[in-house]
Amino acid sequence: MALIVQKFGGSSVADAAKMLEVARRVAKNRKNGDQVVVVVSAPGDTTDNLIELARQITDEPDDREMDVLLATGEQQSIALLAIALKSLGCDAISFTGPQVGIVTDDVHTKARIVRVGDSKIRSALNLGKVVIVAGFQGENKEHEITTLGRGGSDLTAVAIAAALKADVCEFYKDVDGVFTANPAIVKNAKKLSVISYDEMLEMASAGAQVLNARSVEFAKNFDIKIHVRPTFNEKEGTIVMHETKAMEKVVISGVTYNKNEAKITVRGVPDQPGIASILFSKLGNAGVNVDMIIQNIGEKGHSDMSFTVDRSELKKAMKVVTEAAKKLKPAGVIADEQIAKVSVIGVGMRSHSGVAAKMFQALAEEKINIQMISTSEIKISVVVNSKDVNRAVAAIHKKFKLDKIGSKS
Ligand code: ASP
Ligand code: MG
Repeated sequence: MALIVQKFGGSSVADAAKMLEVARRVAKNRKNGDQVVVVVSAPGDTTDNLIELARQITDEPDDREMDVLLATGEQQSIALLAIALKSLGCDAISFTGPQVGIVTDDVHTKARIVRVGDSKIRSALNLGKVVIVAGFQGENKEHEITTLGRGGSDLTAVAIAAALKADVCEFYKDVDGVFTANPAIVKNAKKLSVISYDEMLEMASAGAQVLNARSVEFAKNFDIKIHVRPTFNEKEGTIVMHETKAMEKVVISGVTYNKNEAKITVRGVPDQPGIASILFSKLGNAGVNVDMIIQNIGEKGHSDMSFTVDRSELKKAMKVVTEAAKKLKPAGVIADEQIAKVSVIGVGMRSHSGVAAKMFQALAEEKINIQMISTSEIKISVVVNSKDVNRAVAAIHKKFKLDKIGSKS
């Protein structure tokens, strides 16, 4: 008998019909004899709608009260799913995050999990019930309701799987698994049967929106096997797990893109020690996350510096840079939103050379200009004009023959 944690996202429980479908799926797993814990998100756009409602009242709603408000979304899902399961004759019980002892720190709207209780869940499982737990929420030591940040239900699922030492944590999605590229852009993109935690993490940071990065990190640290699989069919999806020797044989596992970044160029700053330090510590202090950075060769004692930030933080970043400009006196500051980051990812890069050259060649053949380049051990990213992004992804996918992945070539 296996212990399985199953996580269903908001789109899987968006209405009553879908909720019943999920219940049927869960009931089937239970019938197979497995112990099942289900973690659910709020139905459909509930969380967005609640945020919008609060914003109609004020631009800066109180964080504590936002948590009280947002936690209601998931509470609807758990109760409705329990009702659906019982209507199908499958015994089930719903619990909120605080009820099962998900304890977090005090940071409202972005809390971190510090502990997960397991006794309440175990007792209910031992009574033969399917246990349904609200994702995205917990409580701090003072029993204040907290939430884990957008997409936090993934984290709840992995944390519960770790606490219960579950055999697998299944993520049910409206896609069939993790693909070599977004199938909406690359028609012959292939589903990967396995992928390593590190590759999945790089994919998440490079723009693939399959799994929440924090939850993958958590799974890696606690050695929880993740199975990303489709909600509305029975196909096997993608297993996310520790790296194996076989994975290294595959040079590239996927091509991703991220259109949510913007580039800031600071032109003509003095080419002397301490300049980068001033600029980037100011950005850091303002809480702006900087992704890629390039600095060109100094000319006449000056140099240009470009970096990318999340598009949602562009305004804030520009404010910081403009402020710093009073001291640095650059020749100009330019913001560019027409950019996209395209990345290739694969643990095989560690043992294979020539990956960057091949990627750049694919772009050159398409006459796509590269604006910035950055690399990590298992990822190469370039910034291109956003109008070129689909062509870039398709060309790279083709160059690395990713449509043949798994078929020994
Ligand atoms: N309902 C929350 C959100 O929309 C949490 C989640 O879906 O994982 O961000
Ligand atoms: Mg949601």
